[in-house]
Amino acid sequence: MEDRKPKLDEEASFHRKEDEMTKVNRREFLKSSAAVLGAVAVSEGIPSIVSKNGSSAEAAEPAPVYEIYALKYAGPFTSKLAMVFWNEGWNEEIDRNYYLWVIKGMGENIIVDTGTGITEGTKRKLKGYVNPVDVLARIGVNASNVTKVIITHIHFDHVGGMEMFPQAFPKATFYVQKKEFDFWIKDPIGKRRPFVGITDTLANKALAALEGTERLKLVSGDKKIMPGMELLLVPGHTIGLQAVMVNTAKGPAIVASDCAHIARSFKEDNPSCLITDMIAWLKSYDKLRTKAPLDFIFPGHDVIMLQNYPKVAEDITRLV
Ligand SMILES: [Zn+2]
Repeated sequence: MEDRKPKLDEEASFHRKEDEMTKVNRREFLKSSAAVLGAVAVSEGIPSIVSKNGSSAEAAEPAPVYEIYALKYAGPFTSKLAMVFWNEGWNEEIDRNYYLWVIKGMGENIIVDTGTGITEGTKRKLKGYVNPVDVLARIGVNASNVTKVIITHIHFDHVGGMEMFPQAFPKATFYVQKKEFDFWIKDPIGKRRPFVGITDTLANKALAALEGTERLKLVSGDKKIMPGMELLLVPGHTIGLQAVMVNTAKGPAIVASDCAHIARSFKEDNPSCLITDMIAWLKSYDKLRTKAPLDFIFPGHDVIMLQNYPKVAEDITRLV
């Protein structure tokens, strides 16, 4: 979700040890991706990269490789640092942007999050707002070919585009954690004041309308949805927030969405003030840090995603 914010500094990290762990986990991820790809190859009758004795052909190009793009669709917004960095920086300001992401690979464009809906974007007078469907077109995402849209969580700035997406991407299936769906769509607590202010009712209705159809996959926990691509349940900001981990040319990388609003949160172990469960949130940080290096865990709203990476189109950068 979101509101207003600030800027950042890099801090040295605390992780020599974690770097070692990370290397191990990167190897494991590559291996498991190779195994998945092997299974797919076998089932489709094409040559498998898994050898007859079952060991994966690690030397041979094992896992599919994806690229991750960040697409800014609104912002920047300025707020107190304390809003995105829990209880610190009441006198400092920081800028933040609103994004969605595209993961390219295996001949597909997989969309992560749907941005904010036109109605909600207008109502909230979002600065610099552009219809996320139009932003996607800037990197040639062909609406008729999109088959997968992953929704990280059900806050207006991530799910709001559901006002347009089911029609705009007629073949898309939407992936949401079941816990997240049940809370925002069905739990009366999700309609109470701390939650309703970050809800887009129109988008939630559009999402709810897909329940029971092939177009909505309710996921329970971690799940591989393509070779080299896994959804990771990382609660804390919301009850069922999910991140997306993919294999890239530089190893595993994670679109973490609002598991951190800014990159500094992962480095300094301090999330935003928009909390559902702080204990779960810190455990989610532990989980993500074992799966990818810090520089490859991308946050939900950090302006660095636009500033520090190669630009490929207006307000769009390639993260890896
Ligand atoms: Zn957000």
